[in-house]
Amino acid sequence: MRLDYVTIFPGYFGPLSLSLIGKAIESGRLTVVVHDLRDWAHDVHRSVDDTPFGGGAGMVMKPEPWGEALDALIQPSPARRALIIPSPSGEVFSHRCAVELAGYDQLIFACGRYEGIDARVADYASTIIEVRELSLGDYVLNGGEVAALAMTEAIVRLMPGIIGNPDSLAEESHSATLDNLLEYPVYTKPAAWRGREVPEVLLSGHHAKIAAWRRDQAEALTRARRPDLL
Ligand code: SAM
Repeated sequence: MRLDYVTIFPGYFGPLSLSLIGKAIESGRLTVVVHDLRDWAHDVHRSVDDTPFGGGAGMVMKPEPWGEALDALIQPSPARRALIIPSPSGEVFSHRCAVELAGYDQLIFACGRYEGIDARVADYASTIIEVRELSLGDYVLNGGEVAALAMTEAIVRLMPGIIGNPDSLAEESHSATLDNLLEYPVYTKPAAWRGREVPEVLLSGHHAKIAAWRRDQAEALTRARRPDLL
């Protein structure tokens, strides 16, 4: 998969060279290219924002640099690809979105700042590429970079060969294998720690009982914390 990020803060993406994503880049499974939006701004200040039509506080990202960036990055190709625009007013990004996007060949993240990107950019882009406006949740960040990083991590870990033991993806919170429930509590050694014992059933070696206990715990946790998922 190829991932492109367009941003006015390329430094945000340095951490992509770490951990599992860094290894995926090293192994050639993933190509990451970070672009500075200001490279497509041509005035002396390389400005990418201007005052909003209609008045109001804040600045809006100008369409011209975005248009040039997209024209440069979106070449005709049979590859399955999408333009992701992180936005608090987008569809909420979920595990289901991550599963779907993990099957794409190229994702381009358009990271907004200020009051966001001139709305004509998404409209124009949708004539040449699939556009997904995605929100990380019901709150407002300063820019799209952190949202793009979070989405990247959720998507890339689902690609084949990224996680060492693929079984660890099976029974996770929100996974289909766990019927979209939250994951049950997990424990490791020692069996007793600061007066707290690991549930006895997990030490029993009885696989069917352990599976039943985990299922009960997953259901109880989901009922308590996220009844909307049931
Ligand atoms: N004026 C916009 C609004 O009220 O919807 C908020 C703009 S925000 C300060 C600047 C940028 O941060 C957005 O263009 C988007 O790229 C990003 N952003 C902020 N909150 C986000 C969220 N919850 N999910 C994804 N991206 C977000």
